[in-house]
Amino acid sequence: MKILLADIVGKREQYDFVELIDSRLHDFRLEGPVKAGLLARQQSKKVYTLSGWLQASAKVECDRCAKSISLRIDRDFRYVIDLSEEPESDAEHQCSDEECEVLHLEEAAIDSEVIVAEQLALAIPVQRLCDDSCKGLCRECGINLNEKKCKCGESNSNSPFAILKTLQQK
Ligand SMILES: [Zn+2]
Ligand SMILES: [Zn+2]
Repeated sequence: MKILLADIVGKREQYDFVELIDSRLHDFRLEGPVKAGLLARQQSKKVYTLSGWLQASAKVECDRCAKSISLRIDRDFRYVIDLSEEPESDAEHQCSDEECEVLHLEEAAIDSEVIVAEQLALAIPVQRLCDDSCKGLCRECGINLNEKKCKCGESNSNSPFAILKTLQQK
């Protein structure tokens, strides 16, 4: 969906929509479409604000054991759109909190797909763990150490046991 800024001059427009995002472009898999809402408002001649929310379900893999994790995404966001070319504009001042970002547009239109894709990427944590204490996979035999134990560590020549053994053999 494209929102032309010319359409919201002097008023506020509310858009509720469902966005289909192609997850092949990302390292997460979406379960179903993304529900989202946008509220666009003109603040001054060249400054607009865009606040919104989105809800989605995504599947990612645990960084350590590759187990599939379901994520429930529920996110609010805010943009200040600045059509002026000046670096020190009103927009920067209006956008001081963390959730806010300044959007510099090449054309006076908002592409909801771009916004939703960007917010989704921000909502997915950088470190993805099935559990903080996930033991991961054994680097040698690939066994899931949360489920089973293996003997790889014991025969490792760097382990204290192996060093003891070599000492005993001398
Ligand atoms: Zn894990
Ligand atoms: Zn192992």
